[in-house]
Amino acid sequence: MTDSLIQIVCPSCSAKNRLPKAKLNDKPLCGKCGKSLLSTSPVAASDKTFSRYITDNGLPVVVDFWAPWCGPCKQFAPTFEQVAGEMSAQACFVRLDTEHNQNTAGGYSIRSIPTLMIFHHGKEIARMSGALPKAQFKQWLAQNLPSV
Ligand SMILES: [Zn+2]
Repeated sequence: MTDSLIQIVCPSCSAKNRLPKAKLNDKPLCGKCGKSLLSTSPVAASDKTFSRYITDNGLPVVVDFWAPWCGPCKQFAPTFEQVAGEMSAQACFVRLDTEHNQNTAGGYSIRSIPTLMIFHHGKEIARMSGALPKAQFKQWLAQNLPSV
């Protein structure tokens, strides 16, 4: 039965939590800080926390690489937030400010922004550049997100 457990990195305190997959739809709380484990808004990652979010999460992680000066990124942000709220039990949504976290952005050779990537257990599964309308973003997720 151990394979029915899933590890989730807390979006508030970044503690690792293990819970039965069946509990994912049950609004699980962090064992350490008591806050919701499934963030309904994107988590702001940094050079320090990024690798933990993408490698230690049992859920696939959807990353929005953005920058404060990027117009299309700003247009896309509300879409990313809405979808993060709708799909909190299927994926963890993370935003990385490439301007202030250049090590991470450089490590993944991010050349245009916004760039969207999906990771699972630390591995890159899909990547796409450009801001998408919501319907197309959800379609891209449906085609590329692994189910847990
Ligand atoms: Zn926590």
